Amino acid sequence: MAENLKLYIGGEWTEGTGETFHELVSPATGEHIANVPLASAADIERAVAAARVAQDEFRHWSAFERAALMHRIADAVSESVAEIARIQTLEQGKPYHAESIDDIAEANQYFINAAEDVKRLEGRVIPTTDRNKRMFTFNRPIGVWAAITPWNFPVTIPLEYVGPGLATGNAVIVKPPEFTSWGLLKLAEAFDAAGVPKGLVSIIPGGAEIGEQLVAHDGIDAIGFTGSSETGRRIISQMGIKRSIMEMSGNGPTVVTADANVEKAAELAVYGAHYNAGQVCCATERVIVVDEVHDEFVELALRAAKQVKLGDPFDEATNLGPLCNEPTAAKMDRHLADAADRGASIVAGGHRAEGFPTDLYYEFTIIDQVPEAAAVSTEETFGPVLPILSVASDTDAVALANRTHLGLQAAVFTSSLQRAFWYADRVRSGTVVINDSTDFWETFQPFGGAAGTDTGWGRGSIEEFTDPQTLVIDIGNVR
Ligand code: NAD
Repeated sequence: MAENLKLYIGGEWTEGTGETFHELVSPATGEHIANVPLASAADIERAVAAARVAQDEFRHWSAFERAALMHRIADAVSESVAEIARIQTLEQGKPYHAESIDDIAEANQYFINAAEDVKRLEGRVIPTTDRNKRMFTFNRPIGVWAAITPWNFPVTIPLEYVGPGLATGNAVIVKPPEFTSWGLLKLAEAFDAAGVPKGLVSIIPGGAEIGEQLVAHDGIDAIGFTGSSETGRRIISQMGIKRSIMEMSGNGPTVVTADANVEKAAELAVYGAHYNAGQVCCATERVIVVDEVHDEFVELALRAAKQVKLGDPFDEATNLGPLCNEPTAAKMDRHLADAADRGASIVAGGHRAEGFPTDLYYEFTIIDQVPEAAAVSTEETFGPVLPILSVASDTDAVALANRTHLGLQAAVFTSSLQRAFWYADRVRSGTVVINDSTDFWETFQPFGGAAGTDTGWGRGSIEEFTDPQTLVIDIGNVR
């Protein structure tokens, strides 16, 4: 029986005023599992009005009071990890045991980090030319945030905005995609349990139309966006003067140098390409291997790929579940056909798998001899594929790694410290990971991009959620 979900607006559970529902079909089972009410313009108005009222009071809470609230939320979130992880696997498809449980078990950390950070968020005392002036800065909350979030980590990515947003005294309205909003709505029960003042958080699922209305709304002061670069560019052009954190696409290169531990590189490249079915902004999207170790790398990657078990995402042995949606699977089809047309050789997988409840189960795929111009090399594929490109030298590897407009996170495998620093100095990427996967991630890690993706180091700094306010005091002529 499909579950009838409710929106979370102004601290109330409501069917909303929209006239349509999204029929949520599981990518894992093909079953109709829930009906998601689609938020309407009137629902946005309610959420914004409630957020403004609640934030006006909340902004006066002390940092320590807000930190205590964050800890209460973290405790409440931890109560329902298994249930939220189950919903996440049903609606998104990621393996329950291998991934979903750990992902949701970490959800509390976004609140704990924010609680710790906000207590150390200090202003500045600024020297002046005038001996009678005293100048300080305070970090004030910005006001009401809209967080527009993607489907690949549908529960935790919104929390990257809700945690630090609330900890710094803001209100946050989250707009997840309608087809992956159930887990987040379930988690919102923790806000009630923790005593979050009504209105500070609202969750209104919907698509591009609702997103655009939030972006343009005068009652929204700041936009937190995680999603594709195309949508991000559109939002930047439409939001006017609003503060923002924009986290966008990646095309993570992994470089394997001649002195690398090739076995480790192959295992971690395969991991970075299949984790969450490759649907990660910092997934291993392409591997650039120096000629001397190319054949060894391919052989070891093929061996490592034998450990990738495609299957029912609720099965304990499964570490590769279905893709989340048809557009992503269709992009895999297109990119693989394009690579084959350009002369690349598909050495493992290459097709949608048969015998599963939906058409979204894709074989783990390795492509060798990928030409530079192939779409799997130049674009973000977002699927379980490991494209291998070979180069003659380290200099060529850097040039190829940098031939992208999506420099989010890169990896380099080398046993030379000198080479590690040499690469880090040259690869244009928000993060360079030496001797681990591009998928390396910590909840407190500064994370942002170079080469045209992302606008900054947003998640690493709680300060991004505040406006600096300068206070000037004249102490001359005291009576
Ligand atoms: P998307 O851009 O299609 O959608 C993201 C969100 O934006 C969704 O909520 C969507 O409904 C909304 N949206 C779409 N059009 C809009 C518009 N015109 N105005 C306002 N909102 C709009 O991205 P996606 O397919 O959901 O997510 C995958 C992408 O996200 C990948 O490119 C991935 O690399 C990126 N991503 C980046 C990070 C990061 O931290 N940099 C993390 C996860 C995912």
